[in-house]
Amino acid sequence: MGTLAADQTPGLVCAHHHLYSTLARGMPAPPRTPTEFLEILELVWWRLDRALDLDVIYHSARLGALEALAAGCTAIIDHHESPNAIDDSLSVIAEACAEVGVRVSCSYGVTDRHGPEGAEAGLAENDRFLSSGGRGMVGLHAGFTCSDETIAAAAALAQTHGVGVHVHVAEGPADTWQKLRGHATNDWLLIHGVHLPDDHDLSGTIVHNPRSNMNNGVGYAVPRRFANPVALGTDGIGADMLDEFRLAFVKAREDDVTVGPDVAWGWLRTGWDLFPEALNDAVTWNYPVMDSWRLAYSTQVSPTTIEIDGEVVWADGSPTKVDADEVRRSAAEAAQTLFDRLEGL
Ligand SMILES: [Zn+2]
Repeated sequence: MGTLAADQTPGLVCAHHHLYSTLARGMPAPPRTPTEFLEILELVWWRLDRALDLDVIYHSARLGALEALAAGCTAIIDHHESPNAIDDSLSVIAEACAEVGVRVSCSYGVTDRHGPEGAEAGLAENDRFLSSGGRGMVGLHAGFTCSDETIAAAAALAQTHGVGVHVHVAEGPADTWQKLRGHATNDWLLIHGVHLPDDHDLSGTIVHNPRSNMNNGVGYAVPRRFANPVALGTDGIGADMLDEFRLAFVKAREDDVTVGPDVAWGWLRTGWDLFPEALNDAVTWNYPVMDSWRLAYSTQVSPTTIEIDGEVVWADGSPTKVDADEVRRSAAEAAQTLFDRLEGL
């Protein structure tokens, strides 16, 4: 990384994203209003993921990558699930991000929700993608949807490839996160941790997603209580990491008014430990001093220029590698196909 000016930062990192959810906005309402977190999964997200095909995944990921870039995020750690289109799905996401120029780490969220064949196909997709040289991790959905055998297989596969496991942990009270004990190592990403006890003894980085946690009404993780490193993600609601930082800050203040913005800024910085390549990127912002106290109270801070590995990928409010209008137009068409399919589910 060269020397950065006061109005510059390295590329921001989203430590937990679901690029497949980018087209979900505007989707048909669920058959009834979910009343708690598990119903939100069953009635919204587990209907959406069944309706995905490779074409929808591509357009969703490409629009998500464009929106990330527009917010100065140059590196996305993605967690993907598409039970009816598993094979090649991670390569499709990687290709969509490469077109825009955004870095991505891909993982397929293995689960036993669709029987042992589904789990097997998920493991195989992680293995195929990593074996082909893809930048990624091994994904697991969560302890409560995976058998002990599936969890052990994912942990072993990750070790074979020298990467960690990317898994949802204790997002709601019903998660059986204890099943991950004895498997989790320092290179694992433990997403949410809302209902983890202080002495949970899982190794890995905890990824805090304040907007998602509030939206799902699952409670506050109080991330500063953990001995683990903590990073910030969006859980699929865009990739505006300055916005997620501001939310993480005010949520921490609501819990304890003495907390300074350096705490949440530190969580944002942990992203560079997880995705160090983003340190080779330079974002120039429309704001003179990128300092945590100022940014905690400054909205509408956005990039003017972005270089990824020395290549300008954003200039004058637009991406340089893709036509933003074409990306949005074809994403809107794919979204309509997806919505029509959801009506029939
Ligand atoms: Zn998630």
